[in-house]
Amino acid sequence: MKFTVSLPAPIQPEQEWIVRFLLGEILGFEFVIKETQTLDVLIEVQEKVLVISSVFFGLSEQQQNSIDCLPSQPFSKWNPVKSGLQAELTSPQIVVLYGKALFEMHSTESASLGLDVFGSAFVVLSQLEERLKTARDEHHRFSSSDSFLVKANILERPIVEEYANVLYAAMLRLWPRISRKREEGKVNVTCDVDHPFSDYANTWARTIKKMGGDLVRRKSVNTAVKSFQNTWNSKKGNFSSDPFNTFSWIMDQNEKAGNQVTFYFMAGVTDELRDGNYDLLSPRICGLLLEIDQRGHKIGLHGSYLTYNRPDLFEKEVSVIERALDLIGSKQNLIETRQHYLRWSLLETPLMHQNAGFQFDSSVGFAELPGFRVGTGRTHSSFSHISRKPLLIKQKPLILMEASVLDEPYMALSYNESTLDLMLRLKTKAKQFGGSFTILWHNCHFLRSEDQAFYQELIR
Ligand SMILES: [Zn+2]
Repeated sequence: MKFTVSLPAPIQPEQEWIVRFLLGEILGFEFVIKETQTLDVLIEVQEKVLVISSVFFGLSEQQQNSIDCLPSQPFSKWNPVKSGLQAELTSPQIVVLYGKALFEMHSTESASLGLDVFGSAFVVLSQLEERLKTARDEHHRFSSSDSFLVKANILERPIVEEYANVLYAAMLRLWPRISRKREEGKVNVTCDVDHPFSDYANTWARTIKKMGGDLVRRKSVNTAVKSFQNTWNSKKGNFSSDPFNTFSWIMDQNEKAGNQVTFYFMAGVTDELRDGNYDLLSPRICGLLLEIDQRGHKIGLHGSYLTYNRPDLFEKEVSVIERALDLIGSKQNLIETRQHYLRWSLLETPLMHQNAGFQFDSSVGFAELPGFRVGTGRTHSSFSHISRKPLLIKQKPLILMEASVLDEPYMALSYNESTLDLMLRLKTKAKQFGGSFTILWHNCHFLRSEDQAFYQELIR
């Protein structure tokens, strides 16, 4: 069965993109798009019609480019079940970003949905807010504290998929025999290699300072002894006691769980203070790359601090990592990337990644809070607000970075059951409707036994 989707004339490429995402990619229906003179979106087949409010795309171009078009408090909420829609949601109520909390059956052939599912999903998925708001944090990142997703309390929900589910529930009322696509959610495990080994082991002077910290601040003789041993062994080329050298363990765990891990390596230094200080082409790192490659895991580029809006600097790092892959005789293509510090500019970074030949970026998540910065964990084409077309590069939204939850200056929660529950809830929600749970756990963040225990739960 093929639906006809009529969009108000003239068709806006933004609206077409989001219709294709919700109705095609998420729900898996076949349809043709045509232009209509009505103000609403019409979905039709078998002489039945579902009318869907088109509030956001009904705004003028000028209004859509103004900050006033963004959702703001108070946010209206709706329980679709009370209007006869059995929509699958992560909590009984859904936030109505655009349109009205309303569903009405007019007859067995006609119904209308007041919630503007396409406009609401578009504004979240396309990150329109990040284009219209100019405030940035000290790393020039768009901050969750400026996001309406946080104010509306929907950062922890795959809200774009939930809008698709409301749409599906409305369609089911008219066409009870249709059935949506159902896919199993996936876990996508990643690791940013900021520090492949402990820096202190390079010199005895730094080792002694580290041991001082172990004894005084960490009050642990055991850790001090381990620090000594690590430098002693590292000097002789044995890195097995380095607490950051967790790569084999990471691969072991993920192989048991059936996961292919993506390791993002740095290939340059553009900020001495914030970037890792290792040489990708050194024998030690090439040995590590070789092990990762031979065990069938992926190697991606972790663009250094300044590169997120500097194609000239980024391209240099691309050529370094390509040389490293050549050196180890790897057959894998360099297609995965993520920016260090999750620095990411909506109008610049995806285009830069695409021009450098990457197929997937996974930088889009808030460093300071876990959750769904684009309302879904699904891999999707980023939308270019400049060319008004989807880009070729795809985004794998980052749902959970361990540091966001466990470390200062972010949430800094303790290692306990409720913290693990929070992380597992995100995993469940990311996968629930067929999306992906992309998790970032750094190789240098396995210093406590709880890190390992949490990790094993999350990657399963
Ligand atoms: Zn990093």
